[in-house]
Amino acid sequence: MTSSVNGLIIRAADYGENHRIFTLLTAEYGKISAGAYGARSLKNPLSASLQMMNYCELHLSEKRGRVTISEAAVIEDFRELRLDALSMAVGQYFCEVSDDVTLENEPAENMLRHTLNSLWALAHDPLRMFQIKAVFEMRTACISGFMPDLVACRKCGCGCGDNDAGQNAGIFDISDGSLLCSDCHSRLPVEALYYENGTMRRMFRLSPPLLSALRYIISAPDGKQLAFRTDDETGKMLSELCELYLTTHLEHSYKSLNFINRLQTLKASADSAQNEDTNK
Ligand SMILES: [Zn+2]
Repeated sequence: MTSSVNGLIIRAADYGENHRIFTLLTAEYGKISAGAYGARSLKNPLSASLQMMNYCELHLSEKRGRVTISEAAVIEDFRELRLDALSMAVGQYFCEVSDDVTLENEPAENMLRHTLNSLWALAHDPLRMFQIKAVFEMRTACISGFMPDLVACRKCGCGCGDNDAGQNAGIFDISDGSLLCSDCHSRLPVEALYYENGTMRRMFRLSPPLLSALRYIISAPDGKQLAFRTDDETGKMLSELCELYLTTHLEHSYKSLNFINRLQTLKASADSAQNEDTNK
């Protein structure tokens, strides 16, 4: 059997002496695991096309339950991402998460479109990298069945941002994706702040612009989800919150995410050393 399909390469692993096995994300069939013989050899015409994060038109053949790639033509290679270690790491994180939340033989049109849009945005607007990452995380949570309910306080039904004064727009309960106004939160009995195993529930205090940004991200139509701006402080909180929300609900840690955080720490210490030198 042979077939033609468009797929994003979300994982690549070496196999045998010279071969590779790829995980492809497709709209029609979800994830497909497919081998390519000799793909590690530079002489092999497939080797240039079959790279991580490439979106390709592929010819696949199946024999005794094994799928192999016989032809591959690149549709989009997001080459800008490969020029910067941090952009590359964030792109790989998008692929690692997509791999985690999709299944074989289960259509993944939404997740494929969402990942491709996020990679494209990352490649073309690197200055907004952490906003793009936050939007990717929150919308992935929504696609995976963990959409938070941020319309109103879960106890009294008030609109939170509408009634709460000043810098406080209520409290986001990360654990169940619900919102509490400050009044209802302050009246919670102590035991409601803990899980049964004694660890504290994850609650995140929201500012009005942070609540607005979250409401926008989960409700914006496809293609418009990045059409908002935040100040630096809100952007930083948004990035922290969306990462925490996704990893809490998927109950997973990601190698690429650990690497991104290590790169960020290194960059922050390099920046602060440079500032000290400038101030001397
Ligand atoms: Zn309330």
